Amino acid sequence: MTSSAQASLGRAPKRVLLAAPRGYCAGVDRAVQAVEEALDLYGPPVYVRKEIVHNKHVVQQLAERGAIFVEEETEVPEGKLVVFSAHGVAPTVHENAQARQLRTIDATCPLVTKVHVEARKFAEQGYTIILIGHEGHEEVEGTTGEAPANIVLVQTADDLEDLAVDDPDRVAYITQTTLSVDETTEIIARLREKFPNIVGPKSDDICYATTNRQIAVKQLASECDLVLVIGSTNSSNSNRLVEVAREHGATSHLIDNSLQVREEWLEGVETVGITSGASAPEELVEQLVAFFRERGAEDVSELRTVDEDVRFMLPKEIRTELAARG
Ligand code: SF4
Repeated sequence: MTSSAQASLGRAPKRVLLAAPRGYCAGVDRAVQAVEEALDLYGPPVYVRKEIVHNKHVVQQLAERGAIFVEEETEVPEGKLVVFSAHGVAPTVHENAQARQLRTIDATCPLVTKVHVEARKFAEQGYTIILIGHEGHEEVEGTTGEAPANIVLVQTADDLEDLAVDDPDRVAYITQTTLSVDETTEIIARLREKFPNIVGPKSDDICYATTNRQIAVKQLASECDLVLVIGSTNSSNSNRLVEVAREHGATSHLIDNSLQVREEWLEGVETVGITSGASAPEELVEQLVAFFRERGAEDVSELRTVDEDVRFMLPKEIRTELAARG
């Protein structure tokens, strides 16, 4: 393409810097594969409770292959196959599914299951459990369902002001997996001041993928004027990436895909950074890079901060079926 043709396409940064790691985490990869395998093994329709992962593009592609997304297990016809999403479900969802004789595939991320196990353990030991998370998020609903009588939701440090518990010496905390690492550290520090004997999980509940993508975007933000985060608006970890990029000096926007880039965002931008949330497929990043290349950006490179090699096995129900079919 000639430079005059490129100029007519609009403003372009000189340099494009890609965060690494970015995009799909092991839990999302496993959940998406679980639905794909279910479609291959059993044929459509395969019902999926909630969005399997919080990404419009992924949900649309699976719907085109025959997945039917429903809000509740009670919408699934009796006896049919349903996949539970990566965000996890409350025990009542399993009970409802059993009552309707649904065949279930549980694609809950193992790192969300870890938090469920902690909630049950602390509840059995009689603790009041402070769950740090976002109200209405599916993961929070699922975790709360493990011990509804014991769990109190805290969203911000300000929520701690008026927080009263039965026994201040019998308090535990757990967290959603996709929070801001820095903000959560601050809330936990405030909790420790308020409840000096508070106990928590042995290892952090904020997962490796959330943590690593935030480390990467901090570095990216320090080198870019603008950071574009690919992810859907209901994706918690993607929204946190935008916040972290802004806190570290860059202008930042959340976009579903390259079609949402606004011309005015590129005004005066020399280096644009790109990252993607844990539920955003790499092809959307590639399309965005192609968008900038078409406009003349030639310097495209990756800024790697952490190496990742986490993989999870497919849900047991899928592995069993695959083994049975040889
Ligand atoms: S973001 Fe973390 S907790 Fe959520 S699916 Fe991915 S690895 Fe699991």
